[in-house]
Amino acid sequence: MTKLLIDKTAIITGASRGIGRGIALAFAKNGCNVAFTYRNSSEEAQKLEKELTGFNVKSKAYRSDASSLRDSNKLLENVLKDFNSIDILINNAGITKDNLLMRMSEEDFDHVINNNLKSVFNMSSAIQRTFLKQRKGSIINIGSIVGLKGNPGQSNYAASKAGVIGFTKSLALELGSRNIRVNVIAPGFIETEMTEVLPENIIENWKNNIPLKRIGKSEDVANACIFLASELSDYITGQVIQVDGGMLT
Ligand code: NAP
Repeated sequence: MTKLLIDKTAIITGASRGIGRGIALAFAKNGCNVAFTYRNSSEEAQKLEKELTGFNVKSKAYRSDASSLRDSNKLLENVLKDFNSIDILINNAGITKDNLLMRMSEEDFDHVINNNLKSVFNMSSAIQRTFLKQRKGSIINIGSIVGLKGNPGQSNYAASKAGVIGFTKSLALELGSRNIRVNVIAPGFIETEMTEVLPENIIENWKNNIPLKRIGKSEDVANACIFLASELSDYITGQVIQVDGGMLT
């Protein structure tokens, strides 16, 4: 197997479970050193750190809240101390607090915006000085097709993910001349703890509406991340790549 990310270092937010974990494993298999964060799941994070080092790369787990700018700045400082350089930032940490607008509290709206959208500002702002200095870097933001099409009961989540797209496109325009690329991956329906809470009949219904007739795996998202993190995508910035089995076409 040709390893596509040899000697690179990535920061991945929210990698103790789900899609982030899948990205961390795929990156380590491709020769990438991985610094990753979690908020609560310290046991899973320690386990993953060990698993990643098994692929002969450097790996370290950091407890850091992506919705806090203070935590994000501190994280950057620590990762630079531990790894010396950073090539890739993956803003993956995210949450849902679904409800119809008539039942949505201000707290649940703010919470989702802070964790899904402000977190992207926090980490991008923390890392930009490093990327500007080295005149290279790839930022990959994990959005959602819900940010492109909306979804009933997810107005807060859809707003946060649509915001991520606007933020990404603006940053791509700001930083392109310094060889810093910024893109979004918009997954469709991916099997993780975020989606396993949904009732069986809803999952079956979604599956029937997917042209490729299967639910996505975290590896499907990870493969697109490898592409956007590697030199294979050197001329691609400001884009939204859907990883959704053709669901939103
Ligand atoms: P998940 O299984 O619920 O995992 C979420 C991960 O993010 C966990 O590792 C969690 O850490 C971490 N996290 C959450 N908030 C955090 C914060 N403030 N600071 C640091 N870490 C935080 O979710 P997922 O399904 O893998 O989703 C990952 C990303 O993909 C999210 O941005 C989500 O919106 C997006 N997405 C998912 C789907 C899908 O179908 N699953 C579809 C489209 C987009 P702890 O374990 O410590 O809590």
